[in-house]
Amino acid sequence: MEFSRRDFIVTSAMASLAARARALAQQSAAARPPVQTTGKGFGTGKPPMLISSANGWNGSDLGYQMLREGKDTLDAAIAVGKVQEDDPNDSSVGYGGLPNEEGVVELDSSCMHGPTRRAGAVGGVRNIKNVALLAQAVMNHTGHVMLVGEGAERFGYAMGFEKMNLLTERSRKTWMLWKEMHSNQDWWGPGLDDPSWQPDAKGEAPEAALHDEILRRLDELAARLGIEPEYRQIAIEQALHPPHGTIHCSALNEKDEISGMTTTSGLAWKLPGRCGDTPIIGAGCYTDQDVGSAGATGSGEENIRVAGAHTIVENMRKGMSPQEAGLDALKRIARNFNNDEKKIRYVGMNYYILRKDGAYAGVTLWSGPADRPSRFCVNDGQKRLEPCVALFQGTALSYPPRTPQPRPNVPPPR
Ligand code: ASP
Repeated sequence: MEFSRRDFIVTSAMASLAARARALAQQSAAARPPVQTTGKGFGTGKPPMLISSANGWNGSDLGYQMLREGKDTLDAAIAVGKVQEDDPNDSSVGYGGLPNEEGVVELDSSCMHGPTRRAGAVGGVRNIKNVALLAQAVMNHTGHVMLVGEGAERFGYAMGFEKMNLLTERSRKTWMLWKEMHSNQDWWGPGLDDPSWQPDAKGEAPEAALHDEILRRLDELAARLGIEPEYRQIAIEQALHPPHGTIHCSALNEKDEISGMTTTSGLAWKLPGRCGDTPIIGAGCYTDQDVGSAGATGSGEENIRVAGAHTIVENMRKGMSPQEAGLDALKRIARNFNNDEKKIRYVGMNYYILRKDGAYAGVTLWSGPADRPSRFCVNDGQKRLEPCVALFQGTALSYPPRTPQPRPNVPPPR
């Protein structure tokens, strides 16, 4: 393929701003204890075992324990996701997930139970935290596979799920930061009459100084909004670069039974009603008891267009290793853009793959920075983070591309 692995050099103004914001966010993240990365990103484990996105780390021991106790593989995979859905500090799933553009959290999830070859899914759920369990309830208690929006919620209440506001103060303030960041382009944020109002930062200043000025202003705005100092840089990064974030987990037991689930709050600041790949059986999650299981995190729209999880399972059915099967799905995403690097650079995509015999892999479109590679979690009794096998070396840029100040707020003199 023409656009093969090679170093990706980030040069644009927007990328430089992204790099600065990320570096600052990473400084805050550095306070958290690092988890050693081991392994090659593929291998063969001994069941019982679980493969998940890296954010499955916290729940992975619980899932493993459940498999050891002989509990169902789907129950174990969902338990891994539930740990993060319950955590108000995880802004990518469940309670505390980042909201849509109107400030409302909307959750998606899907699951597949290998042994009974069944599936369940929910999309755009607004007031129920544990949507992976809700997707399982759709599977277990209806003749349908997928429920969305209000219907999914009404079904959930009938099944005894609690109604709750999923927006935490932290997520609400980060959303406000995103809204007010555009204050010179709309009516949100400090108006002209506010003593702190400032014209656009754009001027004659050199690019680096301009970026520093924008970050300084965002920091000031974040402080005004009451965002905690230790969380401010992460909030700025999330406002500038709408994050993706999801948890997938596939689980295999000693009887060779296999299941998978994926749960998410989806793309931050999305249009209300947008469903990504997560609730789409065959895109965000796919399990076939005869072959294996796969799940996805990343650019949902791109993954839907290649039916990623299903493609991977079918590739394995035809004899590919998990790693080959996953890289092939990533190449299809690149192919959808005619391998045009100017577009692919905005796509982030990871797949987590577990074959029925314990062979596994994590693959990624972009490797991530050398010191913080894209990783996934393996637990076959030895819980570890492994680096994903990358199709391209470098770091994806977030979409939509953001120039520092897209529109001048003062009309040019006539
Ligand atoms: N795939 C999810 C979505 O598009 C988000 C993510 O995984 O980051 O909704």
